[in-house]
Amino acid sequence: MNAITPIPSYLSEEHLGPWETYLAQIAEVAPHLAPELRPWIGTLTAPKRSLIVDVPVRRDDGTIIHFEGYRVQHSLSRGPGKGGIRFHPQVTLPEVMALAAWMSVKNAVVNVPFGGAKGGIRVDPKTLSLPELERLTRRYASEINILVGEEKDIPAPDVNTNEQVMAWFMDTYSVNQGKTVTGVVTGKPVMMGGSLGRRDATGRGVFVTTLEALKKQGRTLEGARVAVQGFGNVGEAAARLMAGAGAKIVALQDETGTIINPSGLDLAAVRAHREASRTLFGAPNCEARAAEDFWSIDCDILVVAALENQITEANAGKIKARLVVEGANGPTTPTADAILAERGVLVIPDVLANAGGVTVSYFEWVQDISAFFWSEEEINARLDRIMREAFASVWGLSETRGISLRTASFLLGCERILHARKLRGLYP
Ligand code: GLU
Repeated sequence: MNAITPIPSYLSEEHLGPWETYLAQIAEVAPHLAPELRPWIGTLTAPKRSLIVDVPVRRDDGTIIHFEGYRVQHSLSRGPGKGGIRFHPQVTLPEVMALAAWMSVKNAVVNVPFGGAKGGIRVDPKTLSLPELERLTRRYASEINILVGEEKDIPAPDVNTNEQVMAWFMDTYSVNQGKTVTGVVTGKPVMMGGSLGRRDATGRGVFVTTLEALKKQGRTLEGARVAVQGFGNVGEAAARLMAGAGAKIVALQDETGTIINPSGLDLAAVRAHREASRTLFGAPNCEARAAEDFWSIDCDILVVAALENQITEANAGKIKARLVVEGANGPTTPTADAILAERGVLVIPDVLANAGGVTVSYFEWVQDISAFFWSEEEINARLDRIMREAFASVWGLSETRGISLRTASFLLGCERILHARKLRGLYP
């Protein structure tokens, strides 16, 4: 029996969600896996454990409103679950399943001793006041309390969650345990068990893997034209580090607008404008563009650091960049992936490109449980080394097997997971 759920061919791209994208990626890597590991592949195509919770919140006006929340542990074969928590109006169970599965693969690619997990609440946090957001976070933390713990499953920030949300989560868990447990979440404020370098870590990983890919292509960042989708934790840091290394950020897009300047945006000015007016539109020294024009902008490198399903059949053919770097999880559909490959566009996949965040999360967890904190220089040097080594392993596999960087990343990651799974064996 085939353990891989096939994707019905009558389903067109627009009906395929992130979980189907993940299954297509597993189907792609399956024939390349060592034969002795293949019998275990079914452990990758179904999450180990999924929890759906009701999160009731008392609003400031006294009324009670309910949200649906999730925590999925995809694989725990290599260690405790690890992965962020997302607050977004489009969060669904299959999306969280896919995000948890990508965490399993990502953690194995950079070889940190974690399984893969993810959580989320279907909520638009912009509609909540700060006290409501705190109550939402604390109730959600209590509801998923049965799954989390510093040795069981360790959440972190993701889309629309930040250091403050992690501080509330850590406090709620600690109050219920009767002791301070800093290691239950990562991405905390530095003054209460967080790690130096964590805030920029995902963007830094994007930056380091981009440099490695450019080296392979005999190019550098000096003068390279970069378009960035997403100006949150990942996109902002990646753009800033690339600009610092001589690149020109020629276009930026987020949910509030699309702006361009072919001679390079002034990022500090854009950041100040975005913070003050909550939109990219109207930032100094740039022109506004329609959202769909973003994909055909003249650039050498495209960084996608927003959400899933952004590069699709509809726009993959328009992309001018020769290098696409996935700062977000699952930004490219399988059809778009094939179009980019056909056109010779190199894609650094999410499970490699954005693994810097969880790598420094691992450092934070180690620092918390050993109560011994490292300098930012040590953290960045260790992060850079792990990212460069992971890139080299993936690149080597891609060359020797004649497969894409995505399939090579999946090969490296999935074989590590399945080896652990096979060694641990099936109980009973
Ligand atoms: N949410 C981030 C990711 O998707 C970080 C996860 C973590 O640090 O645990 O990789």
